[in-house]
Amino acid sequence: MEKKNIDWSNIGFGYQQTDKRYVSNFKDGKWDDGELTSDANVVINECAGVLQYAQTCFEGLKAYTTEDGHIVCFRPDLNAARMEDSAKRLEMPVFPQDRFVDAVVQVVKANAAYVPPYGSGATLYIRPYMFASSPVIGVKPADEYQFRILCTPVGPYFKGGAKPITIKVSDFDRAAPHGTGHIKAGLNYAMSLHAIVTAHEEGFAENMYLDAATRTKVEETGGANFIFVTKDNKVVTPKSNSILPSITRRSLVYVAKEYLGLEVEEREVFLDEVKDFAECGLCGTAAVISPVGKIVNHGEEICFPSGMDEMGPVTKKLYETLTGIQMGRIEAPEGWVKVIE
Ligand SMILES: *Cc1c(COP(=O)(O)O)cnc(C)c1O
Repeated sequence: MEKKNIDWSNIGFGYQQTDKRYVSNFKDGKWDDGELTSDANVVINECAGVLQYAQTCFEGLKAYTTEDGHIVCFRPDLNAARMEDSAKRLEMPVFPQDRFVDAVVQVVKANAAYVPPYGSGATLYIRPYMFASSPVIGVKPADEYQFRILCTPVGPYFKGGAKPITIKVSDFDRAAPHGTGHIKAGLNYAMSLHAIVTAHEEGFAENMYLDAATRTKVEETGGANFIFVTKDNKVVTPKSNSILPSITRRSLVYVAKEYLGLEVEEREVFLDEVKDFAECGLCGTAAVISPVGKIVNHGEEICFPSGMDEMGPVTKKLYETLTGIQMGRIEAPEGWVKVIE
């Protein structure tokens, strides 16, 4: 297979149309067989449920080339399971988990020419999503849905190494208690846009959201979970019913315990105690870990001892071990790396 003529190390994190995408429609109470298509456009009724009441959810994962030349993706079964949870919470039909994984495989195979080569730092970002396609005007779930998977090549998240970022404690809330913070719904992102644009205007890379009920506990950022490291090398990650269960964070917790022999605490984390941590990072599929050097809380600065030049030492070990597992340089736990071809 001949690769597309793309300058792999200089593509950004944006949408670039590829050859094929997967589509399946839900109608009369069942999903059709699904197929790959070359048509990148979606045509739906003007009154479709997604357009009126935002009945839509999504997933995100990556395909990439390992050191030994295989195209693989990372734990797609967990994306399938999480999308089931999202669909149920939004009263949408579940796309069967085995079909989800199979559709990911089909899309990656059909677009293998867009999977960046090993060592480029770039990946093929895969975006499964589902939306209400039939008309609704009274507030209720639609009758018809479309499940699609598109993919797009994306550049290395950090050009020239992972530099620590500065974030702010947001005055906005991301998720209500008993709300939808724990599912990957577009609505959570629509309402975060004003907060992130505001943070960027003020010179911050991200928002730290607190729990909406008491505003004393750390939740997450707009699209990544937190991990902290204590001065005695314990990994601490916030536990809450309103954060999105990041697959990267769950994988890092396993790596910390089983590969690095570190103690891990998943518990409530109070904003008051953040100043006592030694390291801080954000974890998600796109960057794996973004180190945080500084958190600003209404003028008060929390500066981590790891500083603004490099990842902290434990964060770095976690990052190198997980990316080593993903890239096939370190043996992966059973089932983590799905070989596509
Ligand atoms: C997708 C997402 C994450 C990261 O999850 P991964 O499975 O690690 O990519 C974290 N927080 C939010 C709000 C998200 O939507």
